[in-house]
Amino acid sequence: MKDKIQKLLIANRGASAVRIIHTCRDRKIDAISVFSSADRMAHHVFMSESAIHIGEPPPAESYLNMENIISAAKKANADAIHPGWGFLAENHEFAQLVVDSGFIWVGPSPKVIELMGNKADAKKIANEANVPTVPGIDNVNSTEEVRKWMEKTKVKLPILIKAAAGGGGKGMERVDKIEDLEQAFEKVKSEGAKSFGDDTVITEKYIKNGKHIEVQIVADQHCNIVHLFDRECTIQRRNQKIIEEAPSSALDDNLREKLFATAIRLMRKIGYSSAGTVEFLFDQDTKEFYFLEVNTRLQVEHGITELITGRDIVGVMLDVALGKRLPFKQPDIKLNRYAMEVRINAEDPKTFNPSFGTITRLKFPQGPNVRVISGVYEGADIPPYYDSLLSLLMTAGQDRIGAIKAMEHALGKSIRIEGIKTIAPLLLSIIQHKLFLSGRFTTDFIEDNLTDLISTIKVTSGEDEALKIARYLAERSSLGPTVKM
Ligand code: ADP
Ligand code: ADP
Ligand code: MG
Repeated sequence: MKDKIQKLLIANRGASAVRIIHTCRDRKIDAISVFSSADRMAHHVFMSESAIHIGEPPPAESYLNMENIISAAKKANADAIHPGWGFLAENHEFAQLVVDSGFIWVGPSPKVIELMGNKADAKKIANEANVPTVPGIDNVNSTEEVRKWMEKTKVKLPILIKAAAGGGGKGMERVDKIEDLEQAFEKVKSEGAKSFGDDTVITEKYIKNGKHIEVQIVADQHCNIVHLFDRECTIQRRNQKIIEEAPSSALDDNLREKLFATAIRLMRKIGYSSAGTVEFLFDQDTKEFYFLEVNTRLQVEHGITELITGRDIVGVMLDVALGKRLPFKQPDIKLNRYAMEVRINAEDPKTFNPSFGTITRLKFPQGPNVRVISGVYEGADIPPYYDSLLSLLMTAGQDRIGAIKAMEHALGKSIRIEGIKTIAPLLLSIIQHKLFLSGRFTTDFIEDNLTDLISTIKVTSGEDEALKIARYLAERSSLGPTVKM
């Protein structure tokens, strides 16, 4: 086995690829990017040592095209492949192909990825490891089974129907009225088949007063497993996270230790290595927590854990992929700050419709308590083919209020993004909301308070389109190109 990665191919784009390039630069590793025809001028392409074209804009033809990515890795003479998050990051066939093609796979073993990719299998293993799971039934074939289960266990509505293979908040329907059950079941089944190639359905009790709390794990190939504390990702829209904080303000020391022990027990049972996250739902009424799933990859929100622990999680992933031991032990991991992250998505802050086009102005906050991972630059075009995440904005403070204050300043006064719409105004509105400040919010917070949240969004008078283009051209010609080729 090699003892150093010299060339790392990053099988991703946007903020995910840019984040991995940051660690490559720190470690003097050559970053090799891949790009679709729509991404010729993308930020990750300019930031890397070399970049290889892998196909046409639709993901299936480029960022999900396994053969083309492997060919690119061969052409570039890469040592290793990091999949980032999204795309092929949780595809066990790709992980296996990477290994079989003679490259180092920066992630857990293909077997573990496969095992945790199915929510029904994952829950079964969790139960075997004595990890509590949300009450429910797996491999549901008919709504009749759901009705019988509700009757027998006295579970009341709402319930949640989930695609066992689902992810990214997709393939999930809440049922509030029994007459909607049939339709929800059929919808999830067909969405599972269409989007994830598997129509297996599971059903769960809907945890109403729930918080999403997860544990960041890092593990090596020598059975050493360490947690890097917890994150709370309760602020979600359609089951997708948009604001995350670390650590959670909902746990006391006892519960926190219990949660960590539970997460480590599960990861030990499945023989985990690399970075990974164990997700839980925490019921604020009963103080019980339930296992949701294991994300067998780097997560979007890993950066706030890096802020509070001072560790480079991507760096650790590279080390353990080479077979090295974890560079620290559990007692070495200490918290020194509180951190939060908002996802700057290119969407209308009121309707959530995706926004595309050229970013005519981009200015990020700076300062000792700010961290930015940006997948874009001023002048970049946002193509319509990929998910809407542009950049990640993080702040830190001595306590929760300190981090929120820094974020309020960053979102309210410093950040400037023009030419496309982003959800930044909504994010500001959320962090100023009294329920958010109190810490007592649940995963339904946005749904329950949307009208209220939107009403405080100030509509800044949008520039006239023609003026926008003229200004853009003038700026470009006076400043010259904003990126080096
Ligand atoms: P995290 O758990 O890291 O917070 P998310 O669940 O928000 O991550 O997903 C991370 C990224 O991966 C997002 O950009 C999302 O769009 C994408 N993603 C997650 N699961 C899937 C999937 N099954 N298919 C396609 N994209 C996915
Ligand atoms: P994904 O693979 O799409 O990330 P998860 O199972 O992790 O799916 O769930 C995503 C989110 O959906 C959770 O963070 C939570 O907000 C919500 N959710 C999932 N299961 C339940 C449940 N049983 N009750 C209430 N909310 C749930
Ligand atoms: Mg999840």
